[in-house]
Amino acid sequence: MGVLAGLEPKVFFDRFEEISAIPRGSYHEEAISNHLKAFAEERGCTVFQDEYYNLLIKVPASKGYENAAPVLFHGHMDMVLDKEPGVEKDMLKEGVDLYIDGDYIKAKGTTLGADNGVGVAFMMCIIDDKTLPHPPIECCISVQEEVGKKGGTVFDPSNVTGKRLMDFNWHKPDTIFAGCAGDISAYFRIPVTENAPAEDAVFYELAIAGGLGGHSEFDINLERVNALQAFGRILNKIALEMEVSLTDITAGVNRYVIPGSMEAVLAVSKKDAQKAEEIVAAVAAELKNEYKIADPDIAVTFAPAEEKASVFTYEETKKIAKALRLLPCGVQSMSLEIEGLVESSNTLAMMDTEDGKVWILMTIPSAVTSRRYNILQKVYDLAEILGASVDTFADCPEWPYRPDSKLLATAKKAFYDLYGYEAGVEVSHSSLELGLFCKKIPGLECISLGPKAYDVHTPKERLDWTTVQMVWDHIKEILKDMTE
Ligand SMILES: [Zn+2]
Repeated sequence: MGVLAGLEPKVFFDRFEEISAIPRGSYHEEAISNHLKAFAEERGCTVFQDEYYNLLIKVPASKGYENAAPVLFHGHMDMVLDKEPGVEKDMLKEGVDLYIDGDYIKAKGTTLGADNGVGVAFMMCIIDDKTLPHPPIECCISVQEEVGKKGGTVFDPSNVTGKRLMDFNWHKPDTIFAGCAGDISAYFRIPVTENAPAEDAVFYELAIAGGLGGHSEFDINLERVNALQAFGRILNKIALEMEVSLTDITAGVNRYVIPGSMEAVLAVSKKDAQKAEEIVAAVAAELKNEYKIADPDIAVTFAPAEEKASVFTYEETKKIAKALRLLPCGVQSMSLEIEGLVESSNTLAMMDTEDGKVWILMTIPSAVTSRRYNILQKVYDLAEILGASVDTFADCPEWPYRPDSKLLATAKKAFYDLYGYEAGVEVSHSSLELGLFCKKIPGLECISLGPKAYDVHTPKERLDWTTVQMVWDHIKEILKDMTE
């Protein structure tokens, strides 16, 4: 008996549990891709698998729908691997450990992978169900979505015939997702050197913990602490008062996660140690006050650390502090077309040292291409001032909202027929692969549907299982209505 046995719709939860047992972190999709390929082939589908393990699965139309226009389904098979501190699990080798907590499905100490295991499970349900009325279906299940939308970027659309696409990377069952931002990621690299610490150096570990973090595109409006930005603020304040040398920084999880915690080691002269402690305590109190509503558990610690063999120079340390201070971070513009919608933002997501450079990784989403590039230009401008360098990747176009879309109308009608009230229509600040598909397949219309899921990309990720039935019924109703 599976952990999810007894939940409805059973067909869905059987498949969700099946794929949850297969480790499927980004770049490690071979096993899940082969599993899905075999699953579809056993059920008479034609499967195309590319060298990256992207899949395109063609499901023949059901009886009476042979002449209907095909519909393209989309979801991604990879998931963010993250776990709570102290959790031993090797997520590359083991699937997640599901459990039910009231209305929620969670994974013990790790990300759940509802993002986007939900989409994969829905497609498996449709592939498996021989009784469902539907037009010809083409399931595109991509890889490496969470790490730069690589799968979508390399996906070859030449075998796709559908001009209407349903995606399952949305999180609200009573709304239809109908447009999203594009985004671009950038590395900001500051050259650093290895230097022997001063003779009288004392070392501290500066740690920020307890921040809520969250998804950089869904949660950016919540004004939570970005630990990298907070760290830059503290480091800069120290550097204004005394010579300080940084070493050993690592922060962040992935380019779509707002870092809620981080640690670094720094050295100050023994004579300045007391003063440094006072500065950190003062800024910590400021942060605590400023974020008392958005991020009440934020905590800064400054504890003696073991001596390190090498440190960056004071000048280099100052540059790192200035970069973290001045790189755009958080909401940059709001949409005036759709109330409450963030139009542009930037998140400093990760930081590390590699090949003589400290790098800061950021992701800039915007619904407007020129605004995305304008924020990026500020990053280049600061790099010029600081003697840093910038390189970008994963430039993904936006998926423009089309209020007059026929597919959207079909989905709205199906929802009304089922539930007797209008579905909401939402446009989001998150960037989905659908922007790439819109660019690759001219004239493509898209919508995205999905059950409630929370805190995706974090070990707190949870799926409200009670909302899955509603989405499943909606999908089936839309397919039934697609007679032409
Ligand atoms: Zn995701």
